[in-house]
Order: sequence, then structure tokens, then C-alpha cells
Amino acid sequence: MIKFDRFKDGKRFALTFSYDDGCMQDRRLVELFNKYGMKATFNLMSDVVTDSNSTGIRGDELRSLYIDNGHEVACHSASHPRLEYMSVTDQYKELIRDRETLEKLTGTIVRGFAFPYGTYNSNTLLAMDAAAIVYGRSVNETGNFLLPEDFKVWRPTTHQGNAESRVKYFISCVEKEPWNSGELLYIWGHGYEFDESNAPLSWEKFEEYLAALHKREYDIWSATNIEIYDYVNASRSIRMSADGTMLYNPTDTDVWVSNDGKPLCVESCGSALIK
Ligand SMILES: [Zn+2]
Repeated sequence: MIKFDRFKDGKRFALTFSYDDGCMQDRRLVELFNKYGMKATFNLMSDVVTDSNSTGIRGDELRSLYIDNGHEVACHSASHPRLEYMSVTDQYKELIRDRETLEKLTGTIVRGFAFPYGTYNSNTLLAMDAAAIVYGRSVNETGNFLLPEDFKVWRPTTHQGNAESRVKYFISCVEKEPWNSGELLYIWGHGYEFDESNAPLSWEKFEEYLAALHKREYDIWSATNIEIYDYVNASRSIRMSADGTMLYNPTDTDVWVSNDGKPLCVESCGSALIK
């Protein structure tokens, strides 16, 4: 039986991070992610990164800090307003202004978004469509490792403050449940939260998690949010014959499936035949 339950290189699990607001602690975060070969998404406000009085990450750093290290820069709206109180037109302006500025500063095509304050309404989803933004990360934790049906409202597994039990459970699935696959651990938060007094998650503890996850990289694909989005969409685009013996991948991304539990690559714009 063919199952669409594998990630890049046939790995059974995936891992992604999403960090908001572009605070100065992002520099330390990026160092940590780089040390353990992990990828993350950073959601930024263009009005803040272009403000010379801001204490956060500056516009002229975006490329060297995030992009050159393989991380993703995504939108967090231009000025971080409560979008749900705004007209659809004003919401659109917040998104497109953010997107255009971040694209100029990073030299990348920005397609991701995290809702400021985690809140949104139906007009936000329309504004995202108009601004060609493909996913929106909310702050409502799922506690599980399931992929979203609809990336327009993408709920993470856990906030960093509640990550301990989820990281431990995720690692136990990787190690002790060979029947388990196709699952994603998604952690979100803010760099400044590590420095708060009584922070539920310290820098040291977070590094322990990264080291423990890194040890299992043989079965965990670490990717940015947009890489997960593109991969899952490619996987969901695979065409399969009714008897399950022919597969065709019409996308530009190599996709791995499992065939009776064994990983199989269906190359981009290529076919796979199952005996
Ligand atoms: Zn924010």
C-alpha cells in the first residue's frame, strides 16, 4: 500500500520553528539553530526593521542573519495591528507593505505570514489571498503532530513555553514507534521570552531540546515553514492510478512516499511504477 507519509529524503518526521517580532534575541536563536543544523521561520514587521530607533533586528541584517543561513523571513504585518478590527482593504495594505519591504530587504519571494497577536477574521484570509500569501500561522496550539488540512490557518503543535512534554513525546515516537510517520513537530515563540524572568523555557533547556532532536536527524527533516508548505503541497499533488501501481509527480519538488512501509522517491516531473 502506498502512503503519503514521508518527508524529504524519506524521513518519517519533520520539525519546524516559527519566531515572531524580529527581536534582538533572534541573533542568538539563529546561532543555536545553525549549530544544530536546523531551519526556522522568522516573522517580521517591516515598520520595525526599517525603524532606526528599533532595538530589534535591522533591515540591513536580514540577508546575512536569516537568508544566508537558510532560514525563512515571513510577514507579520507592517505595523503589528489587531487585524480583525480593520477593513479588508487596510488589512491587505498591512500585508502587501510588509511583503514588499521584506522582499526588497531579503532578495527572496516572501509567501508566509504569522497573524500579529495570533488573531484574524475572514477578511484576513481574503487579504492574504489578494497579497498572494499562502499560509498564516496562528497561536492556537494543537498539542499534536498532524499536518494542517488548510495552511491558511496553520496551528502549531506548541508554544515554546509548553514545549517540554511535546518534544519528549515526539522523540519517543521517533524512537519507539516505527509504525508512526508523516508527523510534524511545530514550535513557535518569541526570542525575548527566553530572557524573561521566570521564563518557562530557558536558553539552556531549549538547546538541550535542539541537541536531542538533532541526534535523531536520521529520521527528522528540519525545514522552514515554507519548505514544509511546498513539500506537503507537492505530496498532495501526486497522481496515482486506481490500482496504486503508477504514480506521477507533476510538481518541481521530489516527493517521498512509503510503499509497504519502505520509502520511495517520486522525482519532480517524474513517474514511479510499483510492482
Ligand atoms: Zn508579534
